[in-house]
Formats: sequence, structure tokens, C-alpha cells
Amino acid sequence: MKRLILATGNAHKAEEFARMFTQAGLPCEVASARSVGGMPMVDEISGTFSGNARLKANALKLLAPPDTWVLADDSGLSCDALGGAPGVDSAIYAGPQATDAENRKKLLSALTGVPSARRTARFTCHLVLLGPNHEEAEFTGHCEGSILEAEHGSGGFGYDNLFVPAGYTQTFGELPAATKDELSHRAKAFAALATWLRLA
Ligand code: IMP
Repeated sequence: MKRLILATGNAHKAEEFARMFTQAGLPCEVASARSVGGMPMVDEISGTFSGNARLKANALKLLAPPDTWVLADDSGLSCDALGGAPGVDSAIYAGPQATDAENRKKLLSALTGVPSARRTARFTCHLVLLGPNHEEAEFTGHCEGSILEAEHGSGGFGYDNLFVPAGYTQTFGELPAATKDELSHRAKAFAALATWLRLA
């Protein structure tokens, strides 16, 4: 049984990971960063999802007991009509202390007048896993979709209630959590992680 600590202070991400670990039935005992005193502040300055996930994983590894595994997530939304913005800055799009609601408002404003055919976007998730014996692995997932002109639904977090995954008519804020757990960028990266953990 591996003991694995999630390198995130985002309660929504932790909740999604907890559901996915339970559903996958992996031989892992999963704990939050709170179990080691909380997720330390990390300057996410690498400019890439991959680099930022690694910064978070390394920061928590310094606090984690030596026999534990650490899993970090860096994720965000990239809109084609905005040249990939907000991208790695998704959490701070409307400012360093921005709330999810402020970020969504800024996104809707940036996309004002953009016709629906050009409102395509994708979520990206990079996971970095560090093991007790210097194991390192990285997993990536994407979820294609588009951005509506107004918020729909009250589930999820971040940009969920603006994002309609490809092939669906409802946002992640309206769809059941179980559907997001099958389709999302995080779910796809997690599926690759689960395969790796089963073989490790
Ligand atoms: P991070 O904590 O630096 O990885 O920032 C992630 C940000 O991307 C979040 O604050 C959200 O704004 C956005 N994001 C990432 N994943 C999701 C998701 O599953 N749904 C909605 N927004 C997300």
C-alpha cells in the first residue's frame, strides 16, 4: 500500500482526486497536504503546466515523510480565440488574489463578440508524481470543448460553468460530477497515472 500526499491547496481538486482514487480502487492511501502542515506557497513561475506541477511536487516533497509519494496537479483553460489565454495563468487571470467568479467575468469580457464557432477551448492537466526512491513520472490530459456566453449551472469550480465539453450540450457546472470524472483533463491524466501505479 503506497501512502500518497496530494500537493494541492485546492479543495475542489482534492475532492476530484479522492473520488477518482476511490473509483479506481488503487492500492494507495491518499492524504491531503494538510496532513503535513498544508500546501506551501509556490511561485508558479515556470511558464508551463509541466514546470509548475514539478515546482509544487518538489515543494511538498520537502515536507512529506521520506516514505511517502507526492502527487501535484497544474491545470488550466486555454482559449483559441485568446491565443491560449488564460492558460497557465488560469487561477490568477483577473489578478493575483482573483476569485473564480472574477476570473470567469474577465474571460467572458475577453470573449465578447467572439462567435460560437470560434469559442473553442481546452482544459489541460499535468500531473507530477514523485516517489520515495527518486521515482518520477508525469502524466497529461486534455479535454476539448467550448466557452458559452454566460454561466450555466452551479456544480464544479473554476471555469466549469462556462465550459461545454465536446459532444455535450451542458457545461461541467451542469453535468453530474461522475460525468466530469470520466471526461475531464484531470480524469484523463489520472487514468494514465492509475495505469502507471498498477504496474509500479
Ligand atoms: P492551478 O491551481 O495553478 O493549477 O490553477 C488551476 C486553475 O485552472 C483553477 O483555479 C481554475 O481556474 C482552472 N481549472 C483547472 N482545472 C479546472 C477544472 O477542472 N474546472 C474548472 N476550472 C479548472
